[in-house]
Amino acid sequence: VKETQRNSFMSYDTSMTEKFENMLSIETNLRKAIERDELQVHYQPQKSILTGKVVGMEALIRWHHPTRGVVSPSEFIPIAEKNGLIVEIGEWVMREACIQNKQWQDQGHPPVIVGVNLSALQFHQKDIVQRVKRVLKETGLDPHYLELEITESMAMSNEEYIIKTLNDLRNLGVHVSIDDFGTGYSSLKYLSRFPVSKLKIDKAFINENQEQNQAIVKSIIHMSHSLNMKVIAEGVETAEQLAFLKAERCDEMQGYYYSRPLPPEELSSIFTRDHLH
Ligand code: C2E
Ligand code: CA
Ligand code: CA
Ligand code: CA
Repeated sequence: VKETQRNSFMSYDTSMTEKFENMLSIETNLRKAIERDELQVHYQPQKSILTGKVVGMEALIRWHHPTRGVVSPSEFIPIAEKNGLIVEIGEWVMREACIQNKQWQDQGHPPVIVGVNLSALQFHQKDIVQRVKRVLKETGLDPHYLELEITESMAMSNEEYIIKTLNDLRNLGVHVSIDDFGTGYSSLKYLSRFPVSKLKIDKAFINENQEQNQAIVKSIIHMSHSLNMKVIAEGVETAEQLAFLKAERCDEMQGYYYSRPLPPEELSSIFTRDHLH
């Protein structure tokens, strides 16, 4: 028994060390990535289920590492959140997304809302509202075409501050949505105090254990509507999932079934395809 224990401890140790080294290497390289222009923003279309039109684009960061290839944000965003780099990276993404959306509009594409993920650290910066305002001013994007995504867990702390910040953002004209909805524990009462315009149903409820999750999805849709919020389903991968969402009157969808996140140059065809509806 002792021997097995020791062995399992050793392998645990080794993998922890590896993880740690991997983290360190991501951290050093991430700092360089910014300088070396290795970061890029991809966009995933969001469609109105009723009209079939593209109404939004979510900005999702990509890191093209010179030797590792594309590193997934789920690998480096948590690290950037721990060491604070996310503040710089996140603001860069917001600026890129605003520039891109302005450019699409200037090219004559039907206007869409660009969605940007806001990390907890960014949201808790004292001057976050000023920063958003500055980016909008510098890029010339009309605030109504920017949506900031905060997560349900972020909305769970320091209620006064959250409500004030959300109100200030709304007064600027930007939209705020709650991302990964359903993974936290916010109650209807709690949620009703937040000036947010949309809930994003976490993709796990859409594409995993579909049968078990249908009741949850239905109730999130009904809850959003009773609070006068829109609701979007993430992670829609099949026609069946879309049909269910349509029957339940979900407003919007986002997922591989319609399109993966794409680099901006590949999105013009999506806009063209959208015109044909
Ligand atoms: P998220 O904000 O929940 O973004 C949705 C994720 O689901 C994206 O993963 C997207 O590519 C993926 N996805 C979209 N449709 C489908 C589908 O049909 N099936 C499945 N299985 N997945 C789908 P991605 O791009 O790897 O991003 C992962 C997470 O990294 C994001 O989750 C977000 O939390 C974070 N992230 C990405 N970009 C940024 C950023 O600029 N700032 C911050 N703070 N976080 C970011
Ligand atoms: Ca998101
Ligand atoms: Ca999400
Ligand atoms: Ca997520």
